[in-house]
Order: sequence, then C-alpha cells, then structure tokens
Amino acid sequence: MKTHVRVLVIGGGVVGVSTLYHLTRKGWTDVALIERTELTAGSTWHAAGLLPLFNMSYTVGQLHKYSVDLYKRLPAETGQDVSFHVTGNLRLATCKERMDEYQKYCGTANTIGVPFEVIGPARVKELWPLIELGGSAETPAIIGALYHPHDGHIAPADLTMALRKGARSADAEIYEHTEALGMERTASGEWRVRTGKGDITAEHLVLATGNYARQSGRLLGLNVPAIPVEHQYIVYDESAQLKAYRQGGGRELAVLRESDRSYYLREERLGWILGPYERGAPARFADGVPEWFGRSLFPGDLDRLVPHVEAATRRVPALESCGIKDIVNGPISYTPDGSPLIGPAWGLRNVWLNEGHSFGITAAGGAGWQLAEWIVEGEPAIDMLAVDPRRFGAYTSKRYVVKKNEETYRNVFVIHFPDEERPDARPAKTSPVYALLDAKGAVWGQRYGWERANWFAPPGVERRDRWSFRRSNYFEHVGNEARLMRERVGLIDLSPFTKHEVTGPGAQSWLDGLLANQVPAKIGRLALCHALTRRGGIRSEFTVTKIAEQHYYVVSAGAAERYDSDYLLKSLPTDGSVGLRNVTNTRGCFVLAGPKSREVLAQLTDTPLDNASFPWLTAQTIEAGLAVDVYALRVNFVGALGWELHFPLEYAHHLFDALFEAGEAFGLGMVGMRAMESLRLEKSYRMWGSDMTPDYTPLEASLDRFVRMNKAAFIGKEALEKQLAAGVPNRFVTLEVHGVTDADPLGNEPLFDAGGRVIGRATSGYYGHCLKKSLAIGYTRAELAQPGTRLAIEILGERKQATVLRESPYDPDNLELRA
Ligand SMILES: Cc1cc2nc3c(=O)[nH]c(=O)nc-3n(C[C@H](O)[C@H](O)[C@H](O)COP(=O)(O)OP(=O)(O)OC[C@H]3O[C@@H](n4cnc5c(N)ncnc54)[C@H](O)[C@@H]3O)c2cc1C
Repeated sequence: MKTHVRVLVIGGGVVGVSTLYHLTRKGWTDVALIERTELTAGSTWHAAGLLPLFNMSYTVGQLHKYSVDLYKRLPAETGQDVSFHVTGNLRLATCKERMDEYQKYCGTANTIGVPFEVIGPARVKELWPLIELGGSAETPAIIGALYHPHDGHIAPADLTMALRKGARSADAEIYEHTEALGMERTASGEWRVRTGKGDITAEHLVLATGNYARQSGRLLGLNVPAIPVEHQYIVYDESAQLKAYRQGGGRELAVLRESDRSYYLREERLGWILGPYERGAPARFADGVPEWFGRSLFPGDLDRLVPHVEAATRRVPALESCGIKDIVNGPISYTPDGSPLIGPAWGLRNVWLNEGHSFGITAAGGAGWQLAEWIVEGEPAIDMLAVDPRRFGAYTSKRYVVKKNEETYRNVFVIHFPDEERPDARPAKTSPVYALLDAKGAVWGQRYGWERANWFAPPGVERRDRWSFRRSNYFEHVGNEARLMRERVGLIDLSPFTKHEVTGPGAQSWLDGLLANQVPAKIGRLALCHALTRRGGIRSEFTVTKIAEQHYYVVSAGAAERYDSDYLLKSLPTDGSVGLRNVTNTRGCFVLAGPKSREVLAQLTDTPLDNASFPWLTAQTIEAGLAVDVYALRVNFVGALGWELHFPLEYAHHLFDALFEAGEAFGLGMVGMRAMESLRLEKSYRMWGSDMTPDYTPLEASLDRFVRMNKAAFIGKEALEKQLAAGVPNRFVTLEVHGVTDADPLGNEPLFDAGGRVIGRATSGYYGHCLKKSLAIGYTRAELAQPGTRLAIEILGERKQATVLRESPYDPDNLELRA
C-alpha cells in the first residue's frame, strides 16, 4: 500500500470510484481509494439501477445528463459491459398540475439540452401496451406523460467495475478491506489517514462514504447533513403477460413512473421491479451505521408498500398474477433538500465531500466529473451552487436532518410547486420579531433554516398558500405590498442576511484583491462588490461599507452564510493583518423603504437624513430610538428611497415597535419576500444564486460598472481580460413577456430567437405589480440583448412573445432612490 498520494478517496461505492476515475481523466494518477470492505458493499450493490434524466434542478439535471452520456461510452472505453438498457423513461400525469410540473421541467431540460417528449394518452398506450389508461376514481385517467427516450437502467455493480477498470488502467490504486479510522492534519498541511493497514498521507481527501457520512465527517469534526432513510423495492417473479408481449416481439418497456401514486416500475428478467416512495419511511443511522449492519438490508415493511402495490396493479394488471420474489429494503442517503453534497468541506482545506446521494447511480458520473474538476482546477466547470455542501449551515442538527430527510423522501413524487414551502422541522431559526410579524398575518416560508414572511394576509384573508405554477391566492396581496412600498412606506425584516465585520490594517487591500470592484476608501461609503471565480464567473455578491478606519461591514445573501464565510475565512492572509468576524446572528436588519421612509426614520433619530447630509449609497452609524450602534445604509434591494438598518440584535423588538409607532401616520406596513421579488425585478436587480452564478461573468451580467479592470490584480481579472478580448458572448436582459394571463415566468425558462433557436435562458421572473407587466430577467446571446429586440420565451409549454426592455424598467434613472 502506498503511504503518500495526491488524493485519497474514502469509500468504494459508485460515487467514490467515479471520483477516482475522473481524477485520472484529469491527469492526476497518483491517487488511491480505500474501502472498508469491498467495492459496492454500501448502497450501490442493491440499487435498482434506474437512471432518470428528470430532475427539476438546473445543476443536478446537468450532472445526470453527463452520467447517462458517460455510461453509454464506458463499455467501449474500458471493455467492461455495464448492462445499460436504454429503455426510456415514462412519467405519467393524471392531473393538470402534474402536467404543469412537467412543462416547467421541460424549460430546464431545454436550457441544458436534454431531449424529451410531452405525449398524450394514445402514445402512452403505444409505448406501454400493458398499461390501463384509467378513468375511475381509483385509477384516474392518464392525461399525458413526459417521455425521455434516451435513459433507462443499468447494473450498478458493473458500472462501478467499469469505472474501477478505467481508473486502474491509469495507475490509480484501490485498497479494499481498508477502513479510514482517523484523520488528522499534518504539520505540512496534508492529511494523514489512519487505517487498519497503516497510515496514508494525502494532499486532498475525498469523503464518499454513503451511509457512513455522519461518522466519517465526525472524524474531521464535520456535522455532515446526510442521514439515510429506508427505501424498498419489490422484485416480482416472471409475468406471463410480459413474457407473451416480449416473445411477440415487443421491445423492453420504458421505466414507468406514476408520479401521482408515488412508485416506479421496470422490467427485470421478464418480471418486474416495483419501487415506491412511501409515507412513514424512517431515517436510519442518525448516530452512525452500527458494526453489525455491513452489507445487510432491513426487513421489508409490507404495510408501507401495500397502497403502492394496489395502485400499480390497477394501472398494470399484469402485476396481479405475479408472485413476489424478494423485497429489498436498504438505506438510501438523503439530505434535507434531496440534492447531494458535492464540493469543499467547510472550514477545512483540501477536504472534499461527495456524499448524500439519493440518486447516486444516476449522479455518480456527473458528481465525479465535477468534483475532479474542482479538485484539479480549483473550481468546477458548471454552476454547482445547488449541490455545494456549504448551502447548509450549522443549523442542521441531528433532529432537523432526520425530520427533513424523512419529509424529502416521502415528497420525492409530490408535485414540486415553485412556491412550495414544506412544513417539517419548523420553525427552527426565527428573527426576534417573529411573533410580531406573525401577529401581522405573516405567511411563512423557510430559507437556510430561517423563517421568512413570504407575504402578509390582511385580516379576514386565509393565511395559507395555494401552491401553484400560476398566479395564486396571494397574488393580489403581494401586489398591495409592492404598491405600498412604491407609494408610501414598507418594512421588510431581512435579519437573515449574512454579515461579516472585516477589520485590521490589511482589511482594505485584502478585500481589494478579492473583489472586482473598488472597495470604498472613504468612511461612510458603500459599494456593491463581486467575488469572482478564476474563470471569471460570479461566486458571491457583497455590499461592502466602510464603517471606520480599518473596519468594513460586509453583507451578502442570507442563504450564503456558510458558503461566503468559508470562502472569506480560507482566503484570509496568514499574517494576522485582517480580522474576520461573522456577525450574522448578532445583527438584525430591517429595510425601511418608500417615499415616506425619510419622514418615518427622522422621528427616531437626530442624524440629518436630507440628501446632502445622507446621500444615496452612503452609510452612517446612528442612534435610532433607544437603539445605539445602528449601521444605516442608504441602499436597498427594492429600488426605493430608503435605508437598511443593521442593528444590534437586542434592539430588534424595540426598533420594530418604534418604527411602527412613528410610521402609523404614514401608513407603514409590512412587506414580504414575494413583493420584494416583484419590486427587484422591476429594477432589474440580480439575485445571487439564480441571476448571478459562476456560469456568468459580471460582464455577461452587464455589471460592468462594478468591475474595475484598471485595478491591480483581483481574482478572475485575467479571465475577464480574455473575455473582453474575445467578445462577451452573452448579455443580461430584462424582458417584458406579452400575453400572460396567469402563468408568469419564474426562472429557468428557455429563450428563443425569431428562428426558434434556444439563445438563452431566463434566470428569474415574476409579475411586476407596479409596472403591471409580466417580467423576466436572464441571459441571451449578446447580439440579441438590445432594448426593443423581440424574443420568445416558453412558459409551461406555451411560447410567448417577449421584448427586451431598457434595464431597470421602473424608475430607470433612479430618481426615487436619489430623492
Ligand atoms: C433500495 C434502493 C434502491 C435504489 N435504487 C436506485 C436507483 O434505481 N437509481 C439510483 O440512481 N440510485 C438508487 N439508489 C441509491 C443508490 O444506491 C445510492 O445513491 C448510491 O449507491 C450511493 O453510492 P455511494 O458511493 O455514495 O455510497 P455507497 O454505495 O454506500 O458507498 C459508500 C462506501 O463507503 C465505504 N466506507 C464508509 N466508511 C468508510 C471508511 N471509514 N473507510 C473506508 N470505506 C468506507 C462503505 O463501505 C461503502 O462501500 C437506491 C438505493 C436503495 C437503498
């Protein structure tokens, strides 16, 4: 066994072996993998081997697409067959909302180039002759389906062996029966892994330990939010009808999914495999996998299976006469949002996670591809924010993860409405004024563990969402909140913002090297600054305010707390010249905005608020009411006259009461996240995570005014120089969408030119309540970004005409902001 390697992968399931394989394909061959027992001994050996291309996530969809393409070429490359049955995948719909969901997905599929067909019942029957089209209460009529002709199922163990062969042919080492028992940092900054067979030291560690993620994380002090849930499938004996159909020349049937009954069905040696996603499946191994488990399975739980078996038998009567051969009930790793954890571990250098895979056979290829890219190149080649392990924070307690994972599992097949807010493990994190907002009718949502008011139900209005792909019950009330902000004055509680204090003699030059914009040099100035990837993509957005000499206050998206904090921490100079403090949980933030905001705030403070004394894009530390040390920033995300008030958290309650007391005469009211969405789109404000991602440079995002190319080096500058020389390929656009009656764009819709070619994508969309326009923002080929250009956008399967607008269609000259 080698004692030193460049990368050591821990875990020999399909994901670990794929990571090893892809490292060798990137040219890193001094790499090894250790497996505590034998390859595939974890969840991989008993997986059903389905490879669904379908996924609502833009990132995961790309990973799955890569996998399916890779698995098709692996046999020729490695000489190892993988039993890839390209049967296609058929997802049934029995209600209109389900078709809406498929149509929403088709937008994503179109933007990433996944082929699909939306088909009617007759074609379903043609593809799947053994199906009952239904029409009763028990077996509702199939109204349509989504068909992926190019995926199917594979033999997971064979796939792993093919990847192993590919890795070993490039000199990668694999050591079975070698368990990682301890991990520690060496004085030189490498990682020493203790195994039963001696120590291995590695520059980089990859954890790909499946169900063991909790305990392997613990060896490094990481609380990894991946806990498995029980998952079962039934293996049926031979089916006479299926046999007759196949012997009559019928081709292998597509993998069938009846989403509205939460099961999948596929052929298996002239019999069937039926896999449900049941209610009540318990999370397991929250404290780690017990010694005795090893390669074992759980006993089957028939009670949980019965409703799905009955539904499937009604839909496919051929099942009725088949005996049950086996029930497989194994642990399937889950995370609170159902997507895997692929990327750097927080707080530790050169430790990488490839964990939390619930569709690991499908995702392994893509997950290995991008993780290897990240390790070797320093960053991934595609936007990986949706799977970045740092999208979760310290709030993922064991109980939180157990509850959320059980909820995610039983919701695999529910309709994924874009405005869905799941109820379990809530409320978890709340701002100090939670009860006050609740008393004002807040209808809550959750992001990064925080409760956030999505909208406020006026007295007498039902306090709940009717989730939909279309305008819903809250539409009118969100409109009223948006208008309140533009016409009078509104308050938004944005306490979940991520907030850091950066101090010390090196603070300014360090930030300047990190960020593309000029960091403010004068006390009281603030600037919008972007941290870029080396490829020039946007990794983070910060509002940087100079509070005092050698003291900056740095604000970023609430959901980016661990992601940004980890980046800042790992980028700190080692000479002690810069101090970094995460103050997210010690400072709250209220946005007070609207034409009357100055008059309201003036009653709480003696600080002059007139334009000359307190201009737009400046900040002052003020007293407000009884609160001291309030950072007042004259900037906001809604595009109105107003202030962000960042206050010591202990004043939240007082400040809230004082603002409402002062604001009563001016009609101050609460505004929620959905109205903020409407308002920011009217101003073309880009949101980190959807409109600003590593896929686009700030030049493509038309944020040129926030990039100082004449500054000394900053991360990403070289890439921008190259892009400028070659020509910026895409540009950010704001679009008015015509002819919308009830389904506004929401993001991830494809954009088409006059010839019907996909030339970009919408990254966000909403109804602009004050402009009375349906709006989308996104990216097109640069030559199509001129105001007035006519494009088309596809929303839920319908092509709509759209016109490129001048940026910031509401108040384009920012007169209200400067008022
Ligand atoms: C019943 C069932 C059906 C499924 N069907 C499908 C399907 O159809 N399609 C699909 O895409 N997915 C399916 N899955 C999910 C799929 O099985 C997993 O997502 C996938 O196998 C995960 O692979 P992995 O490599 O991450 O983990 P594993 O396969 O669990 O591999 C992890 C490995 O790490 C090793 N290990 C752990 N700790 C250490 C240590 N300290 N030192 C050394 N080695 C260690 C373990 O022994 C194990 O071999 C199914 C799961 C179940 C339970």
